[in-house]
Amino acid sequence: MTSLTRADWEQRAKNLKIEGRAFVHGEYRAAVSGATFECISPVDGRLLGLVASCDLADAELAVADARATFESGVWSRMAPAQRKGVMIRFADLMDQHAEELALLETLDMGKPISDSLGVDVPGASRAIRWSGEAVDKIYDEVAATPHDELGLVTREPVGVVAAIVPWNFPMIMTCWKLGPALATGNSVIVKPSEKSPLSALRLAQLALEAGIPAGVLNVLPGFGHTVGKALALHMDVDTLVFTGSTKIAKQLMIYAGESNMKRVWLEAGGKSANIVFADAPDLKVAAEAAAAAICFNQGEMCTAGSRLLVERSIKDQFMPMVVEAMQGWKAGHSLDPDTKVGALVDAGHLSAVLGYIDAGHADQATLLCGGKRTLEETGGQYVEPTIFDNAHNAMRIAQEEIFGPVLTVIAFDSTEEAIQIANDSIYGLAAAIWTSNLSKAHLAAKALRVGSMWVNQYDGGDMTAPFGGYKQSGNGRDKSLHAFDKYTEIKATWIKL
Ligand code: NAD
Ligand code: MN
Repeated sequence: MTSLTRADWEQRAKNLKIEGRAFVHGEYRAAVSGATFECISPVDGRLLGLVASCDLADAELAVADARATFESGVWSRMAPAQRKGVMIRFADLMDQHAEELALLETLDMGKPISDSLGVDVPGASRAIRWSGEAVDKIYDEVAATPHDELGLVTREPVGVVAAIVPWNFPMIMTCWKLGPALATGNSVIVKPSEKSPLSALRLAQLALEAGIPAGVLNVLPGFGHTVGKALALHMDVDTLVFTGSTKIAKQLMIYAGESNMKRVWLEAGGKSANIVFADAPDLKVAAEAAAAAICFNQGEMCTAGSRLLVERSIKDQFMPMVVEAMQGWKAGHSLDPDTKVGALVDAGHLSAVLGYIDAGHADQATLLCGGKRTLEETGGQYVEPTIFDNAHNAMRIAQEEIFGPVLTVIAFDSTEEAIQIANDSIYGLAAAIWTSNLSKAHLAAKALRVGSMWVNQYDGGDMTAPFGGYKQSGNGRDKSLHAFDKYTEIKATWIKL
């Protein structure tokens, strides 16, 4: 896909222009207060630049601008077919700037450059393109009224949307929100994570270049407790969409209740069970998928297969296969095109992950591989992919989201026990089962309380299917036409004939 070497990427990184200012009404500008914070790369510790530290004053400006732009109709009343054209141009521009966007993403949050280029940029542009393509193909409804009445059921954009997003897939998470929000005519304020603000700031300029009018997409970098909180409490934000931790998701519901009852849609954490039955069609394939499920994106995945549940009768045969598969997922320098596991997002997160490894030891789970920080000489934040066997579901490493490449293995004896363990979690984001038995697959899939269910695979998904969680993993769905529900109000209009 790319023939660029690590040296090429290093060279480009040196010449890369870093824009850290906020983006309001089509222009970059410093925070009202003038405050900035340092953006440090977890890849090697280099200072990438200074980023605007926005707060309440910036939120006031951006919300007022987004509101005025929405009311002007310049975007909200543009014909859907025309909005579609602009969205497709935006997606095309993202693809044309793929290498620059990928480099920004990798330098900012540490994921392997090959993933940024092969997964994140195409995933993000697809979300924009798919949503844009859909918007002139959706019809409203006519109610089944008596003969002398007409009942119209129409969808309208909600108005001003605030999107607070995390750092693990900065561009993709931003675009899962932006796609349906923009396609349906809203004005949007994006608050990227303070750990990964750079790609969203660049996207805003590409959106403007594509023809999305100034004020329709504003980006406010800064911290959660300052600008994030200001947006969540704002009386003129109609809808708040969020991806991030369950802890903050709960707080956002409180903010909405304390302010204007804005709609709140949440994609939060997970502790997904990957259940391997003795009758799995191919244990080697299952073992490879189990390793990928915890190592891809450094395990910084809401859907990470972080609990591996293995039927006891095959466990001695299966676990060496998983350990072997993990050898293919060594941590490496994030700018090396062959690297599959890059740097964790920052030093604080690395120490949190190492803290969970300590907890695994303290609870006397059995370390099968990994367990240590690595590549310290790079100045970056790397950890070895790690497996703890002989765990049980009450351990901290089985209940809490580690958000790193640390796999917790639990044995089970029956289908009922596997389902009971899998559902014994505050989360309900995803699960996988591996079996050749059709009835068992369907019955288990029904019994597992999760938003995404995989059978004989891990992590399937696409823009065409909804994504989101049960229980404390969130509410509502991103992706697919179901996502449009978050960004539209339904109006019933009655006409007497
Ligand atoms: P986080 O909750 O700490 O932060 C998410 C965002 O919320 C950031 O932009 C942050 O600045 C902001 N924020 C923090 N405090 C805030 C406050 N008081 N008011 C308003 N905004 C505030 O999460 P994170 O560490 O960035 O991301 C990791 C989490 O995201 C994990 O729990 C992971 O499971 C979850 N996640 C979920 C999905 C999903 O789709 N379900 C996808 C990716 C990540
Ligand atoms: Mn960063």
